[in-house]
Amino acid sequence: MAKTLVGWLAISKEPSLILAQYRELKRQVPLLYTLLILNASAVTYTHFAYAPVWVTVGFLGALIATCGWRIICWLRAPEAHAVTVEAARAQLVSTTILAGILGAVFLVWSMLMNQYGGVEQQAHVALFIAATVIGCIFCLYNLPSAAMLVTAIVTVPYLLYYLWRGDPVFTAMALNIALVTGVMVRVLLNGFGAFTNMIRSKAELVCKQEETQRLSADNAHLAHTDMLTGLPNRRFFFNRFEQWLQDARRENGRMAVGVLDLDRFKAINDTYGHAWGDRLLVEVGARLDSFASERVSLARLGGDEFGVLFADPIGDVRSAGQAMCDALSRPFVIEGQTISIGCSAGIATYPDAGSAVHELFDRSDYAAYHMKMNERGGCALFSFEHENIIRSERAVETALLAADLDRELHVCYQPILCTHSCDVLSVEALGRWTSPSLGPVPPDRFIVAAEKLNIIHDITIALFRKALREFGAMPPSIRLSFNLSAKDITSPETLRQLMDLIEEGGIDPKRITFELTETALMRDFHAAVRGIQSLRALGARFALDDFGVGYSSLGHLRRLPFDKVKLDRSFVENMEESFGRNIFSGILALCRTLELDCVAEGVETEAQLAWVTNLGCQRVQGYFFAKPMPALELAAWFLARTTSPTPAVVSRYGL
Ligand code: C2E
Ligand code: CA
Ligand code: CA
Repeated sequence: MAKTLVGWLAISKEPSLILAQYRELKRQVPLLYTLLILNASAVTYTHFAYAPVWVTVGFLGALIATCGWRIICWLRAPEAHAVTVEAARAQLVSTTILAGILGAVFLVWSMLMNQYGGVEQQAHVALFIAATVIGCIFCLYNLPSAAMLVTAIVTVPYLLYYLWRGDPVFTAMALNIALVTGVMVRVLLNGFGAFTNMIRSKAELVCKQEETQRLSADNAHLAHTDMLTGLPNRRFFFNRFEQWLQDARRENGRMAVGVLDLDRFKAINDTYGHAWGDRLLVEVGARLDSFASERVSLARLGGDEFGVLFADPIGDVRSAGQAMCDALSRPFVIEGQTISIGCSAGIATYPDAGSAVHELFDRSDYAAYHMKMNERGGCALFSFEHENIIRSERAVETALLAADLDRELHVCYQPILCTHSCDVLSVEALGRWTSPSLGPVPPDRFIVAAEKLNIIHDITIALFRKALREFGAMPPSIRLSFNLSAKDITSPETLRQLMDLIEEGGIDPKRITFELTETALMRDFHAAVRGIQSLRALGARFALDDFGVGYSSLGHLRRLPFDKVKLDRSFVENMEESFGRNIFSGILALCRTLELDCVAEGVETEAQLAWVTNLGCQRVQGYFFAKPMPALELAAWFLARTTSPTPAVVSRYGL
């Protein structure tokens, strides 16, 4: 009980409670002083004729001055949200002390007034005391220490005074006042308890809200962050893209979006393992992050693809993108190993390249893809040239979707010869498509389109069926080379149908060589290996096509069950230069070590043939001997060869 009383009398130390008390008092205390002035004026009025002027008007004047000053102080005091806890507490303490002093002063004044006038005036003093104390209790409702101090200081001595005087009516009135104020104090304490609880639960609620807000901010951060690199993720990227594009539209400004695609990452990932690849991506993320600023936002879009946004770019965004590519082409050192990758990038600017998010993104992606295909390590700005290419790609795609494959596709064959005997060892089947609307479409274009449209399976199967049928009529000494695309070698359905067709055609699988490029392997290395093994199990052979233009060649050559390597045309093109010949002979030596046959592609001139032969390459293919031709033409070519060999071959080899 005593402890509770001390608790009520003491000024709280809880910041939220102190501030809440301060806020309430700031509203109530000026009213309390007004009430004191009114009550004191009323008593002054009724006692004016009886008491000396200094007791009535003199006191009232002093009281008005003091209360007026306090009212001004409270009105000018800072609002609760702007006051410090210390200042608010100091105000509560001074209010309590002042309440005690004023209570004592009022008591003394009331006792003094009681000396003057008759019974009616004394009754007014009793009323004055009751009204003032009750008013105080109400107005100091939020500061029980002050309310109780005033009640105790005023009512107790007043009661004692009348008890001492022995006047039964006034004693009864004093007792009445004391009891009523006692009850009021109890009510006040109950109310203050509820007020305290409310403030505490409010403070708890605020704490919980802050915690929830912090958690949801954490969640939002996680939802927008790429866990591996710590860069913003795809979701963040597209949200910000939308936002910056809207800003640019509203302000008639500009913005740019870029796609950065790592070169050779998949091969490295396959060669060194995923954990190692992840470490590399973390390093890549850190390098890219150094370009981020308020106006340049970088994100990982997935896999080895990153995105960049430029808000209101004033400078040359292509150079900025190129700087990022250059930064990524510097070697990385991971676990003591130095590795070099590269990065190709494409950028599309608003409003030049488009006006919608998906349009701009697709175009930057296309520019990056175009760069990757043509000039790795560079950054391209989406241009009208790209636009035209896209248009014609769309036309190819549309025509391909409507194509009657059996009628429109056919196969051409290009012989592969032995440099020593000049015998035809095999023929490479090359797909041809003549679209009724577009005319002949080169295979590298329709194959890419078919892969994109996911109809490559149908094309491969249609071409293979035709090739096998025609191959059946060719000399039994020669073999057939057939190109497979990346998706074919990883598709169990395509593999199964290829096997069925070989079986149905009654062709010995050992006479068939499938050609695959490195890019085909890199898409899904492990699935490609499984595909190769399943066809090899039948007896078919495999050649690594376009060898030398990929980047992970050595790793793949060692690890994959290839029988043959086809050296890219670019090697033969560089044959005139000594460095070209050195590289060529180096690769030949490597293939010999790995016991792989080598075919030199793209032999166009006699000089090239001489170099290739002198360097020790035993198999050649190229326009010098024959261009790819339909089966009928090939049959005529075979016939012409046996009756009269080509003059060039005759002169070179003395046939
Ligand atoms: P590839 O497999 O490297 O085929 C060789 C390409 O080089 C052929 O182009 C051929 O005509 C061309 N060529 C041969 N000798 C010479 C030469 O001496 N000089 C020059 N400049 N070129 C020569 P083509 O037929 O246009 O095929 C291009 C590419 O399209 C092929 O490259 C292959 O990757 C792909 N392709 C062709 N047919 C098919 C197919 O049936 N299926 C798949 N998946 N891809 C195919
Ligand atoms: Ca080929
Ligand atoms: Ca090739």
